[in-house]
Amino acid sequence: MSTPHEHPVRLDELRAEVAEGCRVLAARDLAPGFLGHISVRVDATRLLVRCRGGDERGLAHTTPDDVRLVDLDGGPGAPGELDVHTTPYELALHAAVLRHRPDVDVVVHAHPRDVVVADLAGLPILPIVGAYDIPGAVLAAGGVPVFPRSALIADAGLGDAVADALGPSPVVVMRGHGLTSTGASVAEAVLRAQAVATLARLSLDVVAAGGELRPVPAEDLASLPDLGAALNLATAWRHELARLA
Ligand SMILES: [Zn+2]
Repeated sequence: MSTPHEHPVRLDELRAEVAEGCRVLAARDLAPGFLGHISVRVDATRLLVRCRGGDERGLAHTTPDDVRLVDLDGGPGAPGELDVHTTPYELALHAAVLRHRPDVDVVVHAHPRDVVVADLAGLPILPIVGAYDIPGAVLAAGGVPVFPRSALIADAGLGDAVADALGPSPVVVMRGHGLTSTGASVAEAVLRAQAVATLARLSLDVVAAGGELRPVPAEDLASLPDLGAALNLATAWRHELARLA
């Protein structure tokens, strides 16, 4: 039985979306260099994932051709898909999160410096701002767990451990490594990664300025309106893509 994602045209659209997401990660300094990747669930056993070709130039230069159809164990998802590309070392991370979280269609893994530094400095991701970034405040208020190991997530056991640490949360910080974020779309997962990185940067700045991290009062958090997906996702994503141009 085929799903909508299996249609060739839809696959091509998804490859383009993943490529754009990778370029946004790079443009926002969330994935410096050539490390980091995005995956999208295609069906029960396959995903599209940013792979590495022979002429790898880094995430900022990702093209749809770098996004390959693979199965959850890292084999080609269709003939020819991995002829000239190799899967990420941390494919097990994507596979585990997609297996553990049926509600998630997109997994972003990146190495945002500010997130790593804030965690190593002992600063948790807290809702220290409100209307400055409402989706970020709401995300932080729900809690952002930390996976305490700094290992490369190169096998299923470590993948499961990260998925366990993530639990039902949208994002998990990975100590000495980066973060993994999730979403129903590339835009949602990338914007969540960005929101956490923004909070990490703000936290470092507050502490550097001599302040303390204090969550905004509960009544202020409760008063924040949901401005809706049209603004929080569609407009925010158009802005990110426009910045790339
Ligand atoms: Zn990594």
